[in-house]
Amino acid sequence: MATTQSREAQVVDAVPKQLFVGGEWRDAAEGGTLGVEDPATGETLCDVADAQVGDAVAALDAAVETQAEWGSHAPRERGEILRRAFEMLSARADDLALLMTLEMGKPVAESKAEITYAAEFLRWFSEEAVRIAGRYQVNQTGQGRVLTMKQPVGPCIFITPWNFPMAMGTRKIAPAVAAGCTMVIKPAKQTPLSMLALAGILEEAGLPGGVLNVITASSSGSVMEPLIRDPRARKLSFTGSTEVGRKLMEQASEQVLRVSMELGGNAPFLIFEDADLDAAVQGAMLAKMRNVGEACTAANRFHVASSVADEFASRLAERMGALKLGRGTDDGVEVGPLIDADQRAKVAELVEDAVGKGARTVVGGNAPDGSGYFYEPTVLADVSDGARLLKEEIFGPVAPVKGFSSEEEAIHWANDTEYGLVAYVYTRDLGRAFRVAEALETGMVGLNQGIVSNGAAPFGGVKHSGFGREGGPEGIEEYLETKYVAMSL
Ligand code: NAP
Repeated sequence: MATTQSREAQVVDAVPKQLFVGGEWRDAAEGGTLGVEDPATGETLCDVADAQVGDAVAALDAAVETQAEWGSHAPRERGEILRRAFEMLSARADDLALLMTLEMGKPVAESKAEITYAAEFLRWFSEEAVRIAGRYQVNQTGQGRVLTMKQPVGPCIFITPWNFPMAMGTRKIAPAVAAGCTMVIKPAKQTPLSMLALAGILEEAGLPGGVLNVITASSSGSVMEPLIRDPRARKLSFTGSTEVGRKLMEQASEQVLRVSMELGGNAPFLIFEDADLDAAVQGAMLAKMRNVGEACTAANRFHVASSVADEFASRLAERMGALKLGRGTDDGVEVGPLIDADQRAKVAELVEDAVGKGARTVVGGNAPDGSGYFYEPTVLADVSDGARLLKEEIFGPVAPVKGFSSEEEAIHWANDTEYGLVAYVYTRDLGRAFRVAEALETGMVGLNQGIVSNGAAPFGGVKHSGFGREGGPEGIEEYLETKYVAMSL
């Protein structure tokens, strides 16, 4: 036990706790600090610098000063820095996973899976850095020529959430580095340590000072707004709630900033009567329980053909009820705590509302006594149309199940939301698979699989889930401008 504790202390101690500005680690100018809590115990792990506006402006100054030089850096060198960072992240995955679990709560195995996912963006974009190309075209008349070139957008502002503290960072940083952009990034105040560790790794991998600047702050709104309104910034990429995203878009409109928004979700999980039910239960476990349901891609509601709805609910309940809750650092733990007391209270309120409107609790439905923000994995059956959790993002381990009687009805329910990030579909009928995939109003579809996240694929949503794509060949386009040169020979 003593060894375990000292290893936890070691991984926390190893992380720089200061702001990273212009290649230097420094305290906040006013000397403030902000505590980082372990959500499984409620205890403070350590303190990190608490930036004020002046610190954030200094970070943007550094990004702006470095932009021209970094933008003309050899693409191969940019790629090699990312590749080295990929190797380092992979080699240190055990320590980084423990660090993430300490600040965020998810079981270590899940944190490790996130490190692998996060590292893949570094590898993928290390390969994309040398594939940035324009085109040369003889125009319609045969007289002139069309030449296009791709250039870095310029200094970027990034804001990331606490639920995937490392991957939401590398998904923005890696394509920006590959494209030749500089940046200021602000992680969520609950989980700054993973980002600070990543900055240390990128520094060690040879990223020149000023390319990546990290600001940690307790007052995110007042610290970031002046940067978003600063005419020297060229791009804002935000991952977080739709509510905050909307506010940031308003601020970004002042300088007509290029914007990418990765916002909230309310993913439907459709199971047709011809589906392989074993596979559907397995996929449902992934889509629901990854990150304790605190994922924008989490299946928020299960729409199941009425003929198999009860069987699905009881089989899912059996699997969910057998999961072991506990501190993410303990052996065998499969479900960690939620991020904080507010989040747990919101989950409990949504369950209470659904049960009050007639839903049947098949398993779970309680917040266990004791420390930490735990909530039992819960399956609710016969959920009525008016239940709030069909409309609102649950962000917790709760699976509402509702029957449908036809393909049209399933599609109607799936699209009956302002969100449009991802939908999951289980069917063995190929024609239906394509029909439904085409009809769904989402940016992504998981067909007979409960997970879509993949470094090689374009991640992103439609409707209130945002716009822009991260990952895949599309991911780097977010950081490139196309310049057209009209040529007369
Ligand atoms: P959030 O409250 O919107 O916070 C996200 C980030 O924005 C944090 O860094 C937060 O900083 C910052 N922030 C909050 N208010 C701000 C303001 N007025 N100005 C500037 N920055 C501000 O969301 P969250 O609760 O952390 O994350 C959960 C949400 O993220 C969910 O809705 C989830 O669906 C969404 N999400 C979407 C994706 C996707 O790719 N589509 C991925 C992951 C999560 P502080 O925490 O320091 O206040």
